[in-house]
Amino acid sequence: MFLKGIEIQGFKTFVDRVRLELGPGVTGIVGPNGSGKSNIVDAILWVLGEQSAKSLRGTRMDDVIFAGSARRRPVGMAEVTLYLDNSDASLPLDFQEVAITRRFFRSGEGEYYINKVPCRLKDIQELLLDTGSGRGGLAIVSQGRLEEILAARPEERRSVLEETAGIARYRLRKKEARQR
Ligand code: ATP
Ligand code: MG
Repeated sequence: MFLKGIEIQGFKTFVDRVRLELGPGVTGIVGPNGSGKSNIVDAILWVLGEQSAKSLRGTRMDDVIFAGSARRRPVGMAEVTLYLDNSDASLPLDFQEVAITRRFFRSGEGEYYINKVPCRLKDIQELLLDTGSGRGGLAIVSQGRLEEILAARPEERRSVLEETAGIARYRLRKKEARQR
């Protein structure tokens, strides 16, 4: 599985709909300071369910919605879609391509979709569990996080390794079974 494309609209600097195509290898994003490189990483974290505005470098969740500029009015909705290549069937869905979408309105309402079908955030988290791409996995290492992992307490570091090794799914199931 790999991330083959990202579509962003109304999210931070990306007011108009843009689609970035990514290949299976390494992609570098270059551009002047403040041009929106880190905003792309924020967009990916956001679709994966990031709930903390601070982790997205804002103070409130609606800070992710395009706030307007000298030439453009603010918009009312942010939408980001990740297109995952699933031709190796590493995601348990019978589709070659899986699209994960998150939408958020200024009113505070939010929506999630898998292949355009409305779903819960939990469905997205379960889908990505053990692929290492979920939130808390090592797929996204933001600035400062590397040091954090190295300096983490052993239990914290173990949870990162467990997510990567594919044990997180069973730990979650055990916890859910206990709660019943
Ligand atoms: P650097 O090279 O300095 O790391 P960068 O390319 O990573 O820069 P970003 O941090 O992605 O830049 O973009 C920062 C810009 O995004 C700032 O100019 C900020 O005003 C703008 N921005 C952030 N949130 C919004 C928003 N909701 N609406 C409009 N613009 C926004
Ligand atoms: Mg940056």
